[in-house]
Amino acid sequence: MSKALSQVPFATNEPVRTYAPGSPEVASLIAKYKEMWNQKIEVPMVIGGKEIKTSIHNRLESPQDHQHDLGFYHYGNMSHVDMAIETALAAKKKWSALGWEQRASIFLKMADLIAGPYRDELNAATMIGQGKNVHQTEIDAACELIDFLRFNVEFMTEMYSEQPVSSEGMWNRSEYRPLEGFCFAVTPFNFTAIAANLPTCMAMLGNVVVWKPSLSQVYSAHVLMKIFKEAGLPDGVINMVITDGAETAEKILSHKDFAGLHFTGSTSVFQNMWKMIGDNIHKYKSYPRIVGETGGKDFVMVHPSSDSVEVATALVRGAFEYQGQKCSAASRAYIPQSLWEAVKTEMGSQLSTIKVGSPEDTSNFVNAVIHKGSFEKCKKYIDNAKNDSDAEIVFGGTYDDSKGWFVAPTVILTSNPQYSSICEEIFGPVLTIFVYEDSKWEETLKLVDETSPYSLTGSIFSKDRYAIEEAYHALENAAGNFYINDKPTGAVVGQQPFGGSRASGTNDKAGSKMNLMRWVSVRSVKETFVAPRSYKYPFLG
Ligand code: NAD
Repeated sequence: MSKALSQVPFATNEPVRTYAPGSPEVASLIAKYKEMWNQKIEVPMVIGGKEIKTSIHNRLESPQDHQHDLGFYHYGNMSHVDMAIETALAAKKKWSALGWEQRASIFLKMADLIAGPYRDELNAATMIGQGKNVHQTEIDAACELIDFLRFNVEFMTEMYSEQPVSSEGMWNRSEYRPLEGFCFAVTPFNFTAIAANLPTCMAMLGNVVVWKPSLSQVYSAHVLMKIFKEAGLPDGVINMVITDGAETAEKILSHKDFAGLHFTGSTSVFQNMWKMIGDNIHKYKSYPRIVGETGGKDFVMVHPSSDSVEVATALVRGAFEYQGQKCSAASRAYIPQSLWEAVKTEMGSQLSTIKVGSPEDTSNFVNAVIHKGSFEKCKKYIDNAKNDSDAEIVFGGTYDDSKGWFVAPTVILTSNPQYSSICEEIFGPVLTIFVYEDSKWEETLKLVDETSPYSLTGSIFSKDRYAIEEAYHALENAAGNFYINDKPTGAVVGQQPFGGSRASGTNDKAGSKMNLMRWVSVRSVKETFVAPRSYKYPFLG
């Protein structure tokens, strides 16, 4: 039992390293990248702290060179999922009884390990396995993850300290219990920080977790499991299985002790899992918590009063950083006729300097898309735009899969505001623009609001305060993260809590107290100091 009301270190955002050419930090990271690139690794599952190996070995692939031999991962089956569930449940009693300071220490240590000795390794694994350049990996695998860990520890203590009032003669308390049973984390390929945050934020609160990472994020997941262990996370608290998503979901979501789903990925996968939970609802001991952050079709809406260079820059960064594979990436833009020529000229001049290639060459701004499926999807939209009468390719439109999954940053101009590439999530470096008549600002706001089922991020650009106010209200439900005169990407933990609604998710804001609240079940405790000795209230005389 704790004998102090300890305060955790005040969380601040991890400074982003610049990796400027010639700097010692870039030399160190690229040296690590080359060292790891030339190694062949073997990635096991980790259940109860033990490395679990199988006879099925799947190739690890790098987006920038799909033939390069990186090694393999052990692919598991449903017996491993059963083992992970049993192991998690066995670890639960001791872990959930551990004092919160002990738990906090583990996750604070994790943050420090990533900020220090593991920074290059985790960044390099993310570059190799997920195709990020030095800047994109730094803001994800290093900074965002460190922030998630430190801020969540602080949010946890803020939550714990929220206590009810007590009337005379009694003491009321709220105890923030972990959920009864085990939790399930299912994570996407595109952020190492999300992959780590989903299981760790639940574990931090005393929960035990079965974690299923994306098969395209296994390399950095392997490094994360090493870091978790070195930070002192007890065996069995987070168990990583590398298995088929659909089968794993079916197995876990029908288990009586399933207590919560923390998901990030595509909308259809989340909706299927929600349906399964509904079908199984009578089997569970408790109503499970369901948190999902899903797809997006994020917009940039430009008012005629805007600065064309600022708009073009936001579009180039917002649409093409990490190849448009951020859930927040700008993928549709609405530009007034009067600004279009200037925006187009500036975009053309910026795009002409962008290099596409492997992240090993740090002068490449755009790298490869994650896998063949993604490459084919981008190709399909680009080829359609080349053939369709209501669309044209303004920039890019080329692709090359001879070595890696490379797609040039592509801008499609459409005359049809319902054109497929302006409505559907592509998740690649493809931006679609609709040019509207300046006089139709108001109806274009309606169009922005109604074009897609998603509501994740969006930006408006304007120098006119009345226009900003109008867009702010008209687009109230069109984005969970709303930007004014900025690109719609780059949310920072503690500054812009992230998440969207409509088909984009449950909007529980990853890396915030709101999210942590979902993984606890409060016990209200009332203690009476001097108990009554007769049933008679004063009104009875
Ligand atoms: P995905 O949906 O293909 O995969 C996500 C996870 O679900 C992976 O672990 C995958 O193995 C698993 N999975 C796949 N099929 C499954 C099934 N039938 N049942 C259960 N699990 C299954 O997504 P992805 O390609 O890894 O990531 C891209 C998607 O994630 C995009 O739609 C993007 O918008 C979304 N995303 C959203 C946010 C957000 O905060 N809203 C953040 C990152 C990514």
